[in-house]
This record gives sequence, C-alpha cells and structure tokens, in this order.
Amino acid sequence: MMNIDLIVWDLDGTKYRLPTNMASITNMVLVPMIQRRLAESGHPPLEPTKIIELGKKSYEQSGSVWLYFAEKYGFDWHDLHAEFNNNMPIEIVPSAPCPSYKNLIQETKKMGIEHVIFTHGNKAWASKALEKLDLTEEFSAERIFDLTTTDGSFKHHGIQPFQALFKNLTKHVPERALMVEDTPINLTGAKQIGMQTAIIDYSSNFSSKPEHVDYIFTTPQALLKRIVDERLGHSGLPPV
Ligand SMILES: [Mg+2]
Repeated sequence: MMNIDLIVWDLDGTKYRLPTNMASITNMVLVPMIQRRLAESGHPPLEPTKIIELGKKSYEQSGSVWLYFAEKYGFDWHDLHAEFNNNMPIEIVPSAPCPSYKNLIQETKKMGIEHVIFTHGNKAWASKALEKLDLTEEFSAERIFDLTTTDGSFKHHGIQPFQALFKNLTKHVPERALMVEDTPINLTGAKQIGMQTAIIDYSSNFSSKPEHVDYIFTTPQALLKRIVDERLGHSGLPPV
C-alpha cells in the first residue's frame, strides 16, 4: 500500500460495523415505504412478508432492497433511494468509535493520502452517518460520492461505476488508489480498473482472501495504522 495517494471508502458496514439486526431494521424501513407507494400509485397492496421476500431477492440480485420495486412498478429510483435513506434510523451508526480513527485519518492526510466516500446510500445519509462517527471534517460534501455519481449503477456492476467515480477525481488514477469495502463483490470492478482492494472484516468471516482482494483488515483503524507504519518504515519511527 506504499504507493497510494487515495483511499476510497465504502460507508455502511465499512466505516462502521452494522448492527446484527440490520436486516430487520431494513425491512422496517422498506415495508411502509413500498406499501404507501403502491397505495398512492393505485397498485394492489402487498403483504409485508411478500415485500420482505421480494426485497431480499432484490438485494441478492442488485445490491439494493428497493430496486426491484422501482423496476416492477416504475417508481423513480432517485425517490426510493432518497426516501429509503431518509427513513433509516441513525441509531444503526455507533457514536464516534475511538479517537484514534480520526487521528489516523488526519495522519495519513498529512502523508499526502486523500480520502473519499463511495456509497450506495445517498449523500444526506452519508453526512449524517459521518457526523455520528465524528468524521465530518475529514469528509466534506465534495468528498462524498453516491449513486447519482454513477447514474444509478451499483459498485458490483463492473468497471463503469468506478470509471464514473474517477471522472470526478481528476487528480487521481486507479493504480494509486485503494478501494475499501465490507462486500467483496463490490471490489471486482475496482480490481478490474486497476485499484488496490481491501476488505474490512469486522466479524472475521473470511478465512481466505478472495482472488480480487489484496488485503483484509478487521477494522478501518488497523488498515490506517498499517499505512502509517509502512510509511514510517515499519518501526513506527520516521526514517532518518
Ligand atoms: Mg457496505
């Protein structure tokens, strides 16, 4: 990781650990949102269990619980994207996890490494979550990229979303950038475009590294610490 000048962070599940009941929280947001839209648009209603089932299938196929409903009923994805994120309870994000998180980001910035967020959530949600993590200063609005950057294309849809991202990061090239995710499939396009790739594996689920993943860390702090140590020559002291 010595030769990077950019870290692209996924947000949810990467910058912070998701709660274990995340699926039920997601369903609590999804069900009323879809029920209301079906009623408003004159479609026949769906039982909550059916919405949950379709949402799960949608997530498995597209990485989004709401995309199926956008496509099936012609709902505007921008609206669903915004509404889903606006209704997500901020309680899922822990308060500033540890002070070293912020310090390590600032330290790597001093070493010439830029940090941005690339998320499937929207920018408003990202700002809210980053505020709770006490990382607002480190990720100003122009450092946050979401599905509007990629025109609705998800990270696991190949290299197109990453090409769209780098159009916005003209000072950087993929070869000198590290993409950090909690979802391995979201790194395939990143790898294809030439980025280095890392997984944050909070629960130590990965016994071996997938082929397209260069590094696995159990926390973002561990990743940042490794970069700082590498730059200082492993000993933890600046080279003389
Ligand atoms: Mg994630």
